[in-house]
Amino acid sequence: MSLVGIGYDSHRLVAGHRLILGGVEIPHELGLEGHSDADVLTHAVIDALLGAAGLGDIGEHFPDTDERYRGADSLTLLETVVTTVIAAGLEIVNVDCTVIMERPKLASHKQAIREALARALGLAPARVN
Ligand code: MG
Repeated sequence: MSLVGIGYDSHRLVAGHRLILGGVEIPHELGLEGHSDADVLTHAVIDALLGAAGLGDIGEHFPDTDERYRGADSLTLLETVVTTVIAAGLEIVNVDCTVIMERPKLASHKQAIREALARALGLAPARVN
């Protein structure tokens, strides 16, 4: 049996916040607004995994009303979800992501993002796109 999940997330770019995508901090004059570290890419991956497993969504697992998740490292949340998904008897095979933004350019950060996500997912970097 193959299960496929689709995740989506969007956060506002604002001054005074860090820009973290896939666990990688990217130098930019604007950052992502949010309750956790606002890592929108990792949040979408989390939602895709939970969706494929039929386990709800990120808001149910890590409510933004919960102080425990203020400033949370989203890669740590992802690792928790990976453990949950594997405990449900599933195997993660690959992850494919699309980031929609005009600036900053991500080309020079893509490999670092791929490696950071792969590490959290327990996958070879080649299985993360
Ligand atoms: Mg989010």
